[in-house]
Amino acid sequence: MAQQFDTVIVGAGAAGLFCAGVAAQLGLRVALIDHSARLAEKIRISGGGRCNFTNLQADLPERFLSDDPRFARHALRSYRPAQFMALLRSHGVSWHEKHRGQLFCDDSSERVIDVLRSECERGGVHWFRPCAVHEVMRLADGSSDSASVSDAPTNAGLRARFALQTDAGEIRCASLVVATGGLSIPQIGATDWAFRLARQFDLRVIEPRAALVPLTFTAQGWQPFAGLAGLALEVDLAVPGQRGAPRFTEDLLFTHRGLSGPAVLQVSSYWRSGEPLSINLAPDQSIADRLLEAREGTRQQLGTALGMIVPKRLAQAWLSQADLGTTGPLAGLPRPLSERRLAELGNRALQALAAAFHDWRVLPAGTEGYRKAEVTAGGVATAELDPRTLQVNRIPGLHFIGESVDVTGWLGGYNFQWAWASGYCAARAMAAGTSGTL
Ligand SMILES: Cc1cc2nc3c(=O)[nH]c(=O)nc-3n(C[C@H](O)[C@H](O)[C@H](O)COP(=O)(O)OP(=O)(O)OC[C@H]3O[C@@H](n4cnc5c(N)ncnc54)[C@H](O)[C@@H]3O)c2cc1C
Repeated sequence: MAQQFDTVIVGAGAAGLFCAGVAAQLGLRVALIDHSARLAEKIRISGGGRCNFTNLQADLPERFLSDDPRFARHALRSYRPAQFMALLRSHGVSWHEKHRGQLFCDDSSERVIDVLRSECERGGVHWFRPCAVHEVMRLADGSSDSASVSDAPTNAGLRARFALQTDAGEIRCASLVVATGGLSIPQIGATDWAFRLARQFDLRVIEPRAALVPLTFTAQGWQPFAGLAGLALEVDLAVPGQRGAPRFTEDLLFTHRGLSGPAVLQVSSYWRSGEPLSINLAPDQSIADRLLEAREGTRQQLGTALGMIVPKRLAQAWLSQADLGTTGPLAGLPRPLSERRLAELGNRALQALAAAFHDWRVLPAGTEGYRKAEVTAGGVATAELDPRTLQVNRIPGLHFIGESVDVTGWLGGYNFQWAWASGYCAARAMAAGTSGTL
């Protein structure tokens, strides 16, 4: 005997939990299914355990990547950061602003999970977890196989559109919301279920890729810098080959295998294999002016002078990799560069060195992949979805929300705001009957 609901949401993460609470409190009979025994693991580990739950600038659509940059606008305007802040406030959760509009819980991410769980309970959401979904079938519209349907309170005028085969038996619903997220962090239960389901229904999926992720280099290419692991400094970073891609002025962190830190995570979402990065290692100063100044009246070596402007270890490593270059504006300079007295170097040489330091070109070999990526870029193509309802244009009742959709936010609370906003729009649309109820 099948159980029936107005709405079944698969995935009890950020988007699914929030959507379930809103839809249930708007009067829908909602079931929430998740294959994981632990609730909302990603919220728990987010923001270093304090959940950067939104960003005060999260209603700016240019802070999101997508094949269609305008797609997210409606949802982001329909549910704004202040609305989520008001919800947390109503549950007594306090927060603080850390950096550039990023809001973090004062105590723990658990508080956000508690809020979402209690909003679901207030609406009477039915939980199925841990529970796997084995198959999804689309029923002919108006299916009324009442003999196989259990006696649920809202089964008058049944219009089940989907039947799910699950560990808990068959579950039918008028609306199915896919909220299983992306591929990042498979260790805590991420799967490609959303993308497989999309393909089952012939929906286009923009090739998923790891984003907000550290970048790696070949062992040989990184050898001069491997010893800098742990060193952090503020840089200005961009993918110069991409028109319109933003520059990020944030911290960069050297690792054993490459580069990480907020600047690199941000730029990784824009980076594509084969493209170099441009790193300004001293964004707040003029290296040329500082070196020209140091040349006056001192017998300093270049390595010593540069090491007084940026961390010494970085100056030495950078100059030793510049020694290896056989082409470009530094190729004709005497080696080893770090031991050259400034007095030996003419204005043009110092200016060429400074320009190279302000525009250090590096070619990543790849990324640390989904094991370390905070999000998955790409996903269900926005062209398949209605931006006001997140419903599939060709399939009434089927919605995709959260990270499964080809909308990816910057680092800093933008991805949770997209989860809340997309879940909200889907819930409102289902309650308004746009996508049908049982
Ligand atoms: C380490 C880390 C830190 C982060 N910190 C932040 C932050 O501070 N701020 C921010 O804005 N974003 C942050 N993010 C990104 C943010 O967590 C995600 O963008 C957001 O959780 C996406 O919400 P979602 O509901 O779409 O997916 P998820 O939250 O990933 O939820 C998906 C749910 O679906 C379930 N599921 C998956 N497959 C199946 C299946 N086959 N059957 C049933 N259930 C399934 C999963 O168990 C999970 O519960 C962070 C991510 C990581 C990995």
